[in-house]
Amino acid sequence: MKLILLGAPGAGKGTQSDFIKSALKVPVISTGNLLREAIALGTDLGKQAKAYMDGGNLVPDQLIIDLMKEKLQSSDCANGAILDGFPRTVAQAEALQSFSDVDIALSFEVPDEAIVHRMAGRRTCLKCHSVYHVENNPPKVEGVCDKCGEALTIRRDDNPDVVLQRLNVYHEQTEPVKHYYEQLGKLRSVEGVGEVEEIRDRIFAVLGLSV
Ligand code: AMP
Repeated sequence: MKLILLGAPGAGKGTQSDFIKSALKVPVISTGNLLREAIALGTDLGKQAKAYMDGGNLVPDQLIIDLMKEKLQSSDCANGAILDGFPRTVAQAEALQSFSDVDIALSFEVPDEAIVHRMAGRRTCLKCHSVYHVENNPPKVEGVCDKCGEALTIRRDDNPDVVLQRLNVYHEQTEPVKHYYEQLGKLRSVEGVGEVEEIRDRIFAVLGLSV
């Protein structure tokens, strides 16, 4: 199955993708994680992407389209994939349609106020990509990833000014992608507010999966 996760930054796509991955047994491809890795490694892609990401803006479409085309053609994705953070513009969705089928686009619906609160307390593991929240989903030991023991960090683009810019970009450039998949009859929506397990159960119900 090829599943797209749509939603504002901080809507819970990364957290929920872990559960969906275990149920579907296909890899998660997160463009944000791939770009952060490219920045950490100092690759050309990372150098080109960094300023856009730090400012809360989208990286140019063609860079992301080339990256995803290559990823989706790899043998890992032969049985499908969960795409977290792609497509983020209608141009990306159109390009994806030209080289890969999509089964479902699942949109996480979360009000902007909840996003701002979540991002303010978000802590991220840059090594294994686990995501925590200081109040709603704290790690067992403060500042340390439960899964791999790495120190948790605050993403540079989670600072409040950049979060507001990312939300603007989401409404202007990514929300129209929902309409694109609605017209194709592939859009499903899920309320992304509540306990992590509650949201997981809603998603599994929509996708017809068992926990
Ligand atoms: P994320 O981790 O998904 O919140 O992505 C972090 C940042 O990476 C975004 O704010 C963008 O700057 C960049 N990015 C990730 N995915 C895309 C995409 N599909 N198109 C353009 N920029 C992207």
